[in-house]
Amino acid sequence: MVSQAGTKIAVVGVGKIARDQHLPSIERSSEFELAAAVSRHGRVEGLDNYTNLETMLRERADIPAVALCVPPEPRYEMAVAALKAGRHVLLEKPPGTTVGEVEALIHLSREKNVTLFATWHSRFAPCVEPARQWLQGKKIRHVEIVWKEDVRRWHPGQAWIWEAGGFGVFDPGINALSILTAIVPPVFVTGATLKVPQNFQTPIAAELTMRSLAGFEVTADFDWRQEGPQTWEIRIETDAGLLVLADGGSRMSIDGSSHPGGLEAEYDGIYHRFAELLKAGESDVDLAPLKLVADAFLLGRTMDVEAFHE
Ligand code: NAP
Repeated sequence: MVSQAGTKIAVVGVGKIARDQHLPSIERSSEFELAAAVSRHGRVEGLDNYTNLETMLRERADIPAVALCVPPEPRYEMAVAALKAGRHVLLEKPPGTTVGEVEALIHLSREKNVTLFATWHSRFAPCVEPARQWLQGKKIRHVEIVWKEDVRRWHPGQAWIWEAGGFGVFDPGINALSILTAIVPPVFVTGATLKVPQNFQTPIAAELTMRSLAGFEVTADFDWRQEGPQTWEIRIETDAGLLVLADGGSRMSIDGSSHPGGLEAEYDGIYHRFAELLKAGESDVDLAPLKLVADAFLLGRTMDVEAFHE
């Protein structure tokens, strides 16, 4: 089903991330061909547009792959429908609202012998792989994550982030955790404080502590109330110096000297990886970042904070 002209793909959920990243990356890719869009309100000009996924799956047997760019809550039912219809499925991050539902999707994808790709876009930031390589063989002493951004700027009008299953500040925070789990040995949550506005279900800020069997501790400070300069930084102290990953993995320095990274192309990297998985007939679903978030909710102490208004 992988053609020379590029695998036909349908984008589902024509919202912010589909327009900002998925559509342009598919347009640039020689490995995929955008063949349809599925969205209740959004449309992509010059394509077949559907308002219902089941209809698209029934009418377009020629489209073997779908990219689910909807929020996490409605994604499971859509993924099940696509997998049952024998389609390869790309999931935006976070891959689901619970660990259990993503495990169910893994099971179904195996049964149907199709590819399931749970994407973690921050892992494709240009300095993440160089950081992973630099850390090889070094002793990590401590990790500090500071991920602070302005929710009004990045999520205007998105009510789902504040509802149960919407992740709150873990929606960006899980990006930091996806980088962490890609570059350091396994860590687990030892404590969490979740600051939940009185008018919402999900935290607007969270502080986590984690520990590794390898002996180091990790602190993470996530906050959605930061106006002005935005901070997406991971600082890793090692026996060979301090590695700082800044701007969400776009920049890196070691003991203050900047280190060459590469071009910013997170979503081009995602689609290239999806094409590789299709060719190899494999899946790629790493649950480690989602488990950390789930454990933070299990162990976390909830603190009411003042109501938040956009
Ligand atoms: P969004 O714009 O609010 O939602 C995407 C689209 O999903 C909506 O336009 C909507 O289109 C559709 N949708 C289907 N069911 C929905 C439901 N129950 N509630 C709300 N929308 C529904 O969100 P987004 O920012 O693109 O985020 C989507 C996913 O991408 C999230 O998991 C997010 O974490 C991830 N992501 C976002 C960004 C970012 O910068 N925003 C960056 C990286 C990853 P219709 O109404 O037309 O169906």
